[in-house]
Amino acid sequence: MTGNESRVQAIYEITNREPIAVKEPEKLEDLWASNVFSLNKMQASLPKQVFKSVKKTIQSGEKLDPSVADAVAGAMRDWAISKGAMYYAHVFYPLTGLTAEKHDGFISPQGNGDVISEFSGKLLIQGEPDGSSFPNGGIRDTFEARGYTGWDVTSPAYILETEQGATLCIPTVFISWTGEALDKKTPLLRSISVVDKASKRLLKLLGSNNIATVSSSCGAEQEYFLIDANFANTRPDILLAGRTLFGKPPAKGQQFDDHYFGAIPARVQAYMHDVEEKLYKLGIPAKTRHNEVAPGQFEIAPVFESANVASDHQQMIMTTLRDTAKQHGFVCLLHEKPFAGINGSGKHVNWSIGNSTQGNLLDPGDTPEENLQFLAFCGAVIRGVHMYGPLMRAVIATASNDHRLGANEAPPAIMSVYLGSQLEEIFNQIKDGDLKGSSHKGVMQLGVDVLPPLTKDAGDRNRTSPFAFTGNRFEFRAVGSSQSVSGPLIALNTMMADSLGWISDQLEAKLGDRKAGPEEVGQLIQPILQDIMSKHGSAVFGGNGYSEEWHTEAVEQRGLLNIPTTADALPFLKDPIIKTLFESTGVLSPTELESRFEVYAEQYILFIDVEAKLVTDMAKTLIYPAVMRHLSESAGAIANLSEIGISVDKSSVEKVAGLAKTLLEGANELETAVQKHDFDSVEDHMQYCATTLRSMMDSVREAVDTLEGEVADDLWPLPTYEEMLFIK
Ligand code: ADP
Ligand code: MG
Repeated sequence: MTGNESRVQAIYEITNREPIAVKEPEKLEDLWASNVFSLNKMQASLPKQVFKSVKKTIQSGEKLDPSVADAVAGAMRDWAISKGAMYYAHVFYPLTGLTAEKHDGFISPQGNGDVISEFSGKLLIQGEPDGSSFPNGGIRDTFEARGYTGWDVTSPAYILETEQGATLCIPTVFISWTGEALDKKTPLLRSISVVDKASKRLLKLLGSNNIATVSSSCGAEQEYFLIDANFANTRPDILLAGRTLFGKPPAKGQQFDDHYFGAIPARVQAYMHDVEEKLYKLGIPAKTRHNEVAPGQFEIAPVFESANVASDHQQMIMTTLRDTAKQHGFVCLLHEKPFAGINGSGKHVNWSIGNSTQGNLLDPGDTPEENLQFLAFCGAVIRGVHMYGPLMRAVIATASNDHRLGANEAPPAIMSVYLGSQLEEIFNQIKDGDLKGSSHKGVMQLGVDVLPPLTKDAGDRNRTSPFAFTGNRFEFRAVGSSQSVSGPLIALNTMMADSLGWISDQLEAKLGDRKAGPEEVGQLIQPILQDIMSKHGSAVFGGNGYSEEWHTEAVEQRGLLNIPTTADALPFLKDPIIKTLFESTGVLSPTELESRFEVYAEQYILFIDVEAKLVTDMAKTLIYPAVMRHLSESAGAIANLSEIGISVDKSSVEKVAGLAKTLLEGANELETAVQKHDFDSVEDHMQYCATTLRSMMDSVREAVDTLEGEVADDLWPLPTYEEMLFIK
């Protein structure tokens, strides 16, 4: 097919698609967690003592007692087989950010020619996927490439139903034979445990006696785009890079705002319904939201869960969104910026810490003790954001998120924390040693007086902040839509643990072995918070994060770092402060941290390399030929017309000819530039990608996008933004 024939064909097929009927909804109680080997199911199928042991393990996050593993494995296998599963898989989360699985059959041939289904405790607890093809950043040489997976008891096993059949999936950690973490789950579990210990220590110092396990929670709002598969299939950029490398913004974009709360096309509705049903079966409490700004963009958000489970569920949500889209003739784009000039996609990671005895520790509460506790924990966050801002920037650094951060629709690449005007005022008063709280005339006494209730006004939300307090949690808004949430959660938990530890150290030094009442503790904590505010208060910012003034003020007056690209951000993983943070808390050893830098840097370089090659390929083999056809047709017409004495305006042809030259030169230059591989360091290579290659790609794109507005539409080979965003 030449010219726009493939486009026309795609549109024809799309408009004639038989919509997949919305199924009769099943009863939620029949659906809910039906594919999860939940605590209830374990209780029903395990001997009492075994169940007790497993439950304890889950609640404390310890290793499963090997003596009960066989019984658990047996019950799990019987349940899985009853659900039609023939296979089981250890599911793990390598540093690529994707989800990996190692499948095995339950079937075990016997010496006598019979087969039995076998699944022992040993197979449940530990697997050995070869896994040598996963990036490990130098931790393993290939001759010792063995990696082990081990069941994470705190995340339940489940059945995954696909067109190929049902599989029992067991969430696991993935570690090297020397015990180093090769995955995203292991450090997350460690960070959950250190923030628990640090929280308990401070709570005890603040006067609490009965303190349950403190866990961190996460609720991640996921944005995504849906476009018809027919369009995606004719665009190599979408297929291979997940975004459009060329494309002129449509005449009608989001400025009309009619997508906002707009009617959802029937096809999309059927898709969403299907996604929700699958997620409910997996026990994932996700619900579609209709509040995104771009045409073709949607959002799904689960109710928050404990960080580890939420993180596994987030991976399952991304997989389900992608797989279900295929069944409905769509492609689901999780890329942060699939369309230039159109709002991008983020993943707001809502995060808090709390337990069953003290409740949500980031909830201000309305008694003096709760206020005291809240201000201490909130102060810890402020200190964390200021000290470890570059880490927060590094954990959201990817080639794709670079397109979003710092643009005027997404949080800036400067890390700051938004508290809301009331809370900011309270912390400023603490800083000045003059805490009044607005309802008090005199000076307020922490631990005795009650803070005025903080209004949770939705209008008070600051959308321009990368990290915002939203009433009882913080919302990390700068996280990319395609990212695993583990990295951000690890950073938040670990920096929190460090800050809580610091506050406890200060408090302990003042208290010694004494136990003090709330009044005295309040007096002691105030100067500690004051100290935090004077050293770290510059990270608190309530104004417009998109503005030019903020960029200047942040950097020049407050000394905050503006870290625009991944190439600038990743090297902070090698910063001594960050190394010490991870080493002192035990969340990542220096080797593990170094390996993460290596892997993420390599991924960044690969990503840009693929895109740059695609730009040259598409420019030379798709766009340039179309432009030449256009020119040759136009030249023919001009010649014919002048032969019969009609004069023609040649300016458009001249413009197109000029752009064609720019396009070809740009593509050739880029083609040569991609070949360069002799760099002194990975850092240099990343900078080369971020500056030289990216700007060359942008120049080619500029020529192509201008040409799209000049070349005859029936010759243009790529589906346009209008078509992809509006035809469903
Ligand atoms: P928004 O206005 O940002 O859409 P929502 O109240 O709908 O806010 O919540 C967004 C997400 O935050 C949901 O996933 C929700 O479950 C989660 N969330 C709510 N409270 C907490 C909390 N204490 N800790 C973590 N996540 C939370
Ligand atoms: Mg939100």
